[in-house]
Amino acid sequence: MVAGQILTLNAGSSSLKFALFEPLRDDATRCRVRGQLEGIGAAARLVVQTGDGGQPARRQWRADEAAPRDVRAALQVVLAELDSRGLLDGLRAIGHRIVHGGTEFSSARAVDDALLARIEGLQSLAPLHQPYGIACLRAARERFVHAAQVACFDTAFHRTQAFVEDTFALPREYYDAGVRRYGFHGLSYQYVAQRYAQLDPLRGRGRVVIAHLGNGASACALRDGRSTSSTMGFTALDGLPMGTRCGQIDPGVLLWLMQERKMDADAISDLLYRHSGLKGLSGLSNDMRVLRASESSRAREAIEYFVARLAREIAALAASIGGIDALVFTAGIGENDAAVRAGACASLHWLGVRVDDAANAAAVGGREARISTADSPIAVWVVPTDEESTIAGQTLDVIEPGAAAA
Ligand code: AMP
Repeated sequence: MVAGQILTLNAGSSSLKFALFEPLRDDATRCRVRGQLEGIGAAARLVVQTGDGGQPARRQWRADEAAPRDVRAALQVVLAELDSRGLLDGLRAIGHRIVHGGTEFSSARAVDDALLARIEGLQSLAPLHQPYGIACLRAARERFVHAAQVACFDTAFHRTQAFVEDTFALPREYYDAGVRRYGFHGLSYQYVAQRYAQLDPLRGRGRVVIAHLGNGASACALRDGRSTSSTMGFTALDGLPMGTRCGQIDPGVLLWLMQERKMDADAISDLLYRHSGLKGLSGLSNDMRVLRASESSRAREAIEYFVARLAREIAALAASIGGIDALVFTAGIGENDAAVRAGACASLHWLGVRVDDAANAAAVGGREARISTADSPIAVWVVPTDEESTIAGQTLDVIEPGAAAA
């Protein structure tokens, strides 16, 4: 057993998720508190939930209050909140979600100046995501000089993929320069794969496709719990359509935008990352709940496109692993939207997917559940994700190798 607690930090463009874990003897870790500060730079709000499942505490900044404007300020707010609860005493290590680990990092690493410089060198591979994790890491290092800092990479889980899965059909020099399919959401896939293997040990070691359907969305094929293929590619734009990102697109469209519309890289980046996906198609919102509640035909078509691409990608991933034993849904949409799951599964009936309608409808609100019928050749599950738990486990493994598995 390891003395001291582990804080996990997961910084995005407008949110900072955090959790505090206590290492245990038999179980890897136990979460004492978790939460997030959302709306950084705009209408900030903080939610803090204790591990015992009590009512969450909430704080909303009024318009005339000085709300946190960046990651550094958000971290100060979160730390002050944890400190006021006496939770920062005995902090042993801080685990950070770092989106991109390039070709170099296939596991979590302790952070020192040299490692930080290498992570910063990867910024061009994820310019819209990497800076927030780095800013948070820098701020935490300044504040906690004696606690270990550990970088946990979202790409690391996918470094097991074969050449045919992580290359593009470009001249080899580009592959050698790092132009590859990295895949993302790796911290989520690791958690869901491990948890599913506990729930269904036989199939969990088989051919599994996990669909992580949140504001960012991707799907991943696994064999024996290891990633073999992912829908996300060089950047977090590829694959499934997302809240505001386009997903798979013909690169010829980009050439057309440059040549005919005279759009430069910044304008195209803005279009593909912030104004496409569900938001672009519906012209309404990136939020699936808003689209569901709408009567607009464009909102309906946006959902139809999402479901159609989802079914197609799941089938493609199943082909890449020679068949499928289990399909697992996770993240905001995957854990809550029974109609999206039902729609994708209906398109996969030919593959042997049979959903129990009542079980599917009941599997909402972050509950683990099997939603396939008893006689379905392919098991279909909902397994809520917990990236923070993966970060804590990886951090523990770095500071005390072998402890997390003990
Ligand atoms: P995540 O990125 O995992 O937090 O997922 C966020 C997305 O999940 C939101 O943008 C919503 O579109 C979706 N979501 C959350 N709750 C629900 C729900 N009850 N029904 C449908 N979609 C939901």
